[in-house]
Amino acid sequence: MTFKVTVLTLFPDMFPGMLGQSIMGRALKSEIWDLSIVDIRKFGTGKHKAVDDTPYGGGAGMVMRADVVAEAIREAKELNPNAPVIYMSAAGEKFTAAKSHEMAKLDGVILLCGHYEGIDQRVLDALVDFELSIGDYVLSGGEVAVHVVVDAVLRHIPGVLGNHDTLSEESFENGLLEYPHYTRPEAWEGHSVPEVLRSGHHANIEKWRSEQSLKRTQERRPDLLAKK
Ligand code: SAH
Repeated sequence: MTFKVTVLTLFPDMFPGMLGQSIMGRALKSEIWDLSIVDIRKFGTGKHKAVDDTPYGGGAGMVMRADVVAEAIREAKELNPNAPVIYMSAAGEKFTAAKSHEMAKLDGVILLCGHYEGIDQRVLDALVDFELSIGDYVLSGGEVAVHVVVDAVLRHIPGVLGNHDTLSEESFENGLLEYPHYTRPEAWEGHSVPEVLRSGHHANIEKWRSEQSLKRTQERRPDLLAKK
């Protein structure tokens, strides 16, 4: 079954963007997932097709209008009826590996991109199922966040990655960071590849990799070990 992604944006030219290249681009061509775009501008009001206005209560910036965004969401729901409506938002639930697994089990997702100061709260309350943040910083628009989320979710959809076993050893999959990788040349500018990896001794290699994985996690992300 095709995983259906619908993106609501004021900048349709940003898609498929990098999701049309490499691994995700191949999966798109082979219809493992599909992408529909709803151009929010199409629902703008008045002869200038306005999509935003100044905030009630004053303050800087512009806010995207509830009526305009609502029309766009209704069109997205027709295109992708079984998918939750997710607003990309710095104030949302933190996007993690666990969340990417959970989302990959869905039939698809509708992803709403804000711009400017954000979106009128009333339409978020009425029509959005949940909000998702890709980290504790503010982006200029939800489009970059959509690229991050869609890439990370699609990696869990069967057929997207060529060799599905590689996934289980990736960073975060077992609560640890991944071990380091090496390839040819065997000696590079005076640095050699760790002896054990050239030994052909599979049990030792596995042991070395799991030690490295643990050591890295201790050094770089002790918070992950504390959670484990
Ligand atoms: N005034 C808002 C920021 C608006 S930024 C605030 O302080 O929270 C404009 C848009 O970028 C948002 O509507 C949202 O869609 C997107 N965005 C910004 N930061 C994000 C983040 N960390 N994760 C996901 N989307 C983000």
